[in-house]
Order: sequence, then structure tokens, then C-alpha cells
Amino acid sequence: MSKVVAVAAAILLAGAVPLAEEHPDQSVFWKIRQEGSANSRILPTLHVLTDVYGPRLTGSPNLKAAGEWALQQMRDWGLKNAHLEPWDFGHAGWLNERLVAHLIAPVKDALVVEALSWTPSTNGVARGAAVQIVLPSSPVMQADLTSYLDSVKNTVKGKIVLVGPHQTVPVTFNPVPLRREDADVLSQMTAAPAAAGPRGQGPAPEPSSPRPLTNNQVQEQVNQFLLANGVLVRINDAGRDHGQIRAFSNNTYDVSKAPPTVVMRNEDYGRISRLLADKRTVELEFEIVNRTYPDGRTNYNAVAEIPGSDKADEVVMLGGHLDSWHAATGATDNAIGCSIMMEAARILTAIGVKPRRTIRVALWSGEEQGLLGSQAYVKQHFGTFEGPKAEYDKFAGYFNVDSGTGRVRGLTVFGPSAAGMVLREAAASLKDLGLLGATTTRTRQTGGTDSTSFNAAGLPGVNTLLDPIQYQTYTWHTNLDTYERIVEEDVKQSAIVIASMVYHLAMRDEQLPRFSKEEMPRAPRETPPTPAPASTATGTRTN
Ligand SMILES: [Zn+2]
Repeated sequence: MSKVVAVAAAILLAGAVPLAEEHPDQSVFWKIRQEGSANSRILPTLHVLTDVYGPRLTGSPNLKAAGEWALQQMRDWGLKNAHLEPWDFGHAGWLNERLVAHLIAPVKDALVVEALSWTPSTNGVARGAAVQIVLPSSPVMQADLTSYLDSVKNTVKGKIVLVGPHQTVPVTFNPVPLRREDADVLSQMTAAPAAAGPRGQGPAPEPSSPRPLTNNQVQEQVNQFLLANGVLVRINDAGRDHGQIRAFSNNTYDVSKAPPTVVMRNEDYGRISRLLADKRTVELEFEIVNRTYPDGRTNYNAVAEIPGSDKADEVVMLGGHLDSWHAATGATDNAIGCSIMMEAARILTAIGVKPRRTIRVALWSGEEQGLLGSQAYVKQHFGTFEGPKAEYDKFAGYFNVDSGTGRVRGLTVFGPSAAGMVLREAAASLKDLGLLGATTTRTRQTGGTDSTSFNAAGLPGVNTLLDPIQYQTYTWHTNLDTYERIVEEDVKQSAIVIASMVYHLAMRDEQLPRFSKEEMPRAPRETPPTPAPASTATGTRTN
């Protein structure tokens, strides 16, 4: 099907739904546009969250300070009831304070690395010979790992150890589009909703057959082995091009269970690997200063409100996660989502709306460790469909932004098709800003981002589909995620779109339609939060 035909078909499909029942207040929508365009505060907000307080790793004092600043900023704009809500992280916070990495021999040069979080400092300056080990490839059986580690014991003693082969990252010949085609967005917005239900559990494994180790188990054992053999520093390959580094965490969150560890840019890792393959002596020097923060066991979500009027006990929420990874200042992931939501609330306050329902901004923490802050919030305030709390029936929707700097192109709501229709019709006058429609999902599985914490409880979480810009290719979780990567025009449009949609849901007579008791998809089996990413340099599940 040609692009033109596809667009026409999608428009026809979209047009097949009954005519609009939604009548958003276009005079308020117009004021929102004016305020968001002429007096935007997004970039100043982003500047403070990134340049002053970034990185904002969960459990760190930076994150708490960023939340406190955001609350004061929202108070100054006129929001009410601004406060921190604690939840138990259960691990100390961690931050890197100093990181120096050099090649000493066969030549002298600086190296580009990031510390792996929740790993310890070096003991002053650590200087030593580099060696490389290549673990058995997956699936790894316990016996294979044990015999391999035994075989390299004398090689690694007291050394600086590169763990893993150099990863070949081919040159990319096909550029990745920065924008979504309208036809692609429309087809996504008119596709059938995602299937419901828990993940297939599959039959239980035979207890007698040995199972391969998980990556986490392998990494924990390798770290124990490196510690026991006095390894000075562990080095992982970032495995990405153009010097991009994604540095996650030692997933035990315990600095005593790993050696000092860095993730090195693929180009430096490759250079050292090739030198070692030549049988040349490579000497490296590191100085790493990391600090742990016992107070970080308690984390905070930052919450502020625009009080409602005749339906003040009902609430429409909007939010994003304030925590970030630590290799950069977390601009696209996700200071910008927070800045957009704060700006949407500022716009509504500035133009003096008197919403019927309360509008509540929430800036989450612990998202990168498995949506921990938003899950704690939903559990405490709303409960679940199966075990509701008093506020459960008073919840009228949650909007989430967490995919970078691109403008909002579509909305996905957990709920029946009627909920999608409400959003689609309310959004009809925002097409020129890029928002082309809305669709629904039926899945209650958590993962990806904070809106799924609401979906899991059976509540209408609304996630936003954004233009990709450079999110997946450059900034997501990398050392390049900085203020410079934000597209001002896009994020201003997003704030206008979100403010408009939130305002409409706060004003309409009825709440956003929800699944009836009969329609409600089954809750996934009680599962622990999404596991933290492995201590290797790649792969994570949350946005
Ligand atoms: Zn994110």
C-alpha cells in the first residue's frame, strides 16, 4: 500500500467512529497555546534539573535536592500541597565523585570511561597491568564457569581486568529517521489493542536437569572471583559507537560485592584488546572515588497540585520520572518529561483555570530500578482493581512522558475503546501540534515506564508516543544525555498538548471510561518489580 493510500485508509478508519461527543473548551485551549508559546519556562526548568542537580541517581542526594527544588518552583508558580512522599528503596544511595583513567604503557593517553554504579572506589591511584578474560558464552552452566574461572585465576591476580571480548560495532550506513511519518502514527493509533493477560509461565522445569545460570548469577560470581583475587579494577566494554557509554549498576546494590568497575568506550576497549592480542604489555592507571549515602534507603516522589472545585476529591495526574542514570545529566531521560509536566501545570496555573477535578503533578524516583517510586505510590494511594483503596474510584487518569525530546504524536490509554475515543476526540484540535490520535491497551504487565504502574492496578494510565529524534540512537541511558539534545520547539508543543488534555479530563462530566468488572483483564501474577539491569554494559528494561 502506498503511503498516500495508507494515510487515506487510516483517516477513513479514524472517521468511522461516531461523531465527537467531546467538546473541549477551545477558548481555554487557545489560552494554553498562547501561554505555552509566549512564556515557556521549560528550558530554565530543564537547566536546573540537569545542570544543577544532574545526575539524579535513585537514592542520591542530587535526586532529593532536585525534587525539593521542583516543589519550591511549583509553589512559586502557585501550585498547592507540594510535598515529598517517601518510599523504601532498601539500598544506600551512590554517586561517583572523581574518575581518572589513563593508558600508561605502551603509550600515554587518556581513556573515556564511566563508573558502574554501586561499585566501590579504588584504593587511591590503582596502577597495574591489563589482562583480558573472555567468559564462556551463553548459556553458561555452573560447571563451565567454575572451571573457566579456575583456569584464569593466576592470570588476573592483582591486575586490571577487561571482562569480555571487544564487541564489533559496525558502521551504520542507514540513517535512522528522527521523525515519525504521519501514516505510521495513524496506523499505530488505529491498530487493535495489545493483548491482555499475564506472561505465559510455561511448564515448571524438570528439577533434575541442570539449568544455565542467569546473567545476574554469572556477573555476581565473576565479581566475587575478581574480588577474591585482588583485582584492582574491572573494565566492561560499552559496545556502542561514537564513544557512547551506557553504565548501569552492580545489581546487588552492595559495593562490597564488586571490584571497582568502569564501562569503557568501545573504541578504547578495542585499542587495549588489540594491544593485548599483540602480546604487548599494557599498563593502566585509575583513580575512582565513589561515595555511598545510607540515607538513600528512603526515596521520595515529589507531588504538587492544582486544587479542583466541585469534583476536588477526584484527581487527574501527570508525571515523569525525576531519577536518571549517572553517566550524564539525564536530560532526555527524563528531566524533560518532568519539565514538560511541570510546565503544563504552570501554564494552567498562569492562565487561571479553575479545574473541576484536582490536577496533580508527580515526579517519580526509582523508575530506572524497576518503576519503584510509582509502584509504591499507586499501592499506597489507590491499591488495585482487586484490592481497591478509597481513592481508587476517584482516579481520572495519569499522563506520562518518558521517551525523550520528540513532540507527542499519540496517546495509549489502559482501558476500553471508549476511553481511547474520549482522548482521540479531545485531541482533534491539537493535530497541528503533532498529536494525531489515541489508542488503547489491555495489558496490566508492568514494564517500560511509570504509566504501567497504573495500568497494572487496572487504572487508566496514558503513555505518550513521541517522535524519536536521537533517543534510541544517542541519548537513552548514555553519557550523551545532556541539555544540548533537547529540541525546544518540540517540548513546548508537548507541554501545550499535555496541559490541554489534562485540562479536558479535569473538566468533563464523567471520568475517563474504565473496564467494567467483566471486561477487566486479569492481573498479572504478583511479580517482583522489573529487575534492575545486569551489571554488564548493555541492556535494560525501563525507559
Ligand atoms: Zn526514562
